[in-house]
Amino acid sequence: MRTVYVNGEYLPENEAKVSIFDRGFLMADGVYEVTSVLDGKLIDFAGHAKRLERSLNELDMPHPEVLPDLLEVHRELVRLNGIEEGMIYLQITRGAPDDRDFVFPDPETTTPTVVLFTQNKPGLANSPAAKKGIKVISIQDQRWARRDIKTVQLLFPSMGKMMAKAAGVDDAWMVEDGAVTEGTSNNAYIIKGNTIITRHLGNEILHGITRAAVLRFAQEAQMKVEERSFTIAEAQEADEAFITSASTFVMPVVEVDGVAVGAGKPGPVAERLREIYLDESRKVAM
Ligand code: PLP
Repeated sequence: MRTVYVNGEYLPENEAKVSIFDRGFLMADGVYEVTSVLDGKLIDFAGHAKRLERSLNELDMPHPEVLPDLLEVHRELVRLNGIEEGMIYLQITRGAPDDRDFVFPDPETTTPTVVLFTQNKPGLANSPAAKKGIKVISIQDQRWARRDIKTVQLLFPSMGKMMAKAAGVDDAWMVEDGAVTEGTSNNAYIIKGNTIITRHLGNEILHGITRAAVLRFAQEAQMKVEERSFTIAEAQEADEAFITSASTFVMPVVEVDGVAVGAGKPGPVAERLREIYLDESRKVAM
């Protein structure tokens, strides 16, 4: 039984409750973050905290009182649940007014709902999937146009994972106007020679915290980085491909729409980037 955090209280998971009028439940009016834990410490907490604040601001959502203390709340949940490797999920919604209404509630009377819980994942860093690589299919990107805000509107990404599952693969890369945007819950990359290619930032993709770190480490390791769109055909002809996210770190992609990428197994650059990312992130984990 997990101990979770709801609106200022640490409770057993089966005692934690949120109103049926909560705007997260009725309108998907909420934002979230997922921070990974390695060696009992938080990976890139500052990056996640900064993006969370940006998501709140972009949606005119009031800042919850606990916002400056979220590091302590994360640490307390890690401690209470004895997490060595895993994730902390955090969600903030616009709160629960007295009734359902499209108009935002008055922030004076309706305060945000804040929920955090842990996901224990022993072996997260030493994942067998990273040794094998994952396979992806391409699907049309049918999400809303503000994907830079990390909202809880995850129905299309969830449908995308089901399409991947039905196709017997691990995930889907979404395509818009002929170019890859990102994976259902990760950023997408290809490698051609010594160059790492990943879509430029904009409203079309989530600005991954892992993406920012990996691109920084790649440049420090003298690799070339090109932030631009690429197509599925380009990915199929690339030397390597991979994805990044807080929970998968750097994960090699070995097949795109049934075509092997490079040698059809995890490539040296993706493997090296995964190693660098894990080593460097562990050094500065909080
Ligand atoms: N893109 C999407 C659509 C995501 O949902 C995620 C993570 O959940 C990412 C990218 C990767 O972001 P991060 O590295 O911050 O986990």
